Amino acid sequence: MLPTHSNLTDQVAVVTGGGGVLCGAMAKELARQGMKVAVLNRTLEKAERVVVEIKDNGGEAVAIACDVLERDHVIAAEEKVFQLYGPCDVLINGAGGNHPNGTTSHEVFQKNAQGDEVIRSFFDMTTEGFSSVFNLNFIGSLIPTQIFAKRMVERTTTIINISSMSSVSPMTKVPAYSAAKAAINNFTQWLAVYMAEANIRVNAIAPGFFLTDQNRGLLTNEDGTPTARMQKILAHTPMQKLGSPDDLLGTLLWLADDEASGFVTGACIPVDGGFMAYAGV
Ligand code: NAD
Repeated sequence: MLPTHSNLTDQVAVVTGGGGVLCGAMAKELARQGMKVAVLNRTLEKAERVVVEIKDNGGEAVAIACDVLERDHVIAAEEKVFQLYGPCDVLINGAGGNHPNGTTSHEVFQKNAQGDEVIRSFFDMTTEGFSSVFNLNFIGSLIPTQIFAKRMVERTTTIINISSMSSVSPMTKVPAYSAAKAAINNFTQWLAVYMAEANIRVNAIAPGFFLTDQNRGLLTNEDGTPTARMQKILAHTPMQKLGSPDDLLGTLLWLADDEASGFVTGACIPVDGGFMAYAGV
């Protein structure tokens, strides 16, 4: 069990995508630390499941249906959180993910691959498909930041964006996701500079490889055995394993607690078993 950060007690956390695997674990840990947690998710039921678990363990949380790409949803969610708990202290921009429309079927160009429903080459990608993945992973962090940060200024608060290994060195097959996560890193630094005067620290966590709904199809076969891609990931991870959601929580608490990381802003922290450090030879 992680140590208690008494600084966080009674503060307000907002977690977008909090109904998902990684951010659900973050929401539960922040509630365990005594924070009042707003779990925002496009599908309300997923947020509710996390909130039930938090409440069963004696924590305080609320589930709010919110599509982070719909400005009106986010404005309504911010108002609801403010009325219920007060202004946000810690914003986690966690909603994100992949979709086949922003993905190529093959890792590299294949001369004889024909574009159809099954095989999608770079040339088959549509602007709409690419944009939908790019927007979820980048604009979906920009909109909540604009809306929640208005009441975060000048109060010693923090924003934590969720990046990826693909932000620095793009993974094959996922160009839209990679471009968006690269934009997240860049935006994290830009916003950290802009908000320093306003006392908002802005950082990012770049998780390595964790098995979740969004990547299950890429990493495991239908019979549960690892795909060739999964085998490559493990071979490229010095610690030779995938991460578990709990592996992110120490870094999360450190970044959330001003007493622990008060001079840290504009940083992107990899939590990846050494993946980013390893050149492969
Ligand atoms: P997940 O699919 O379990 O969680 C994502 C959540 O976001 C889901 O509950 C989904 O309903 C919600 N969501 C999707 N679109 C939304 C929208 N428009 N508005 C509001 N909510 C929306 O995935 P996860 O792996 O827990 O991902 C969490 C974050 O971590 C994402 O930003 C992802 O890109 C990032 N990440 C994941 C991994 C990994 O290995 N799983 C690695 C690096 C980064």
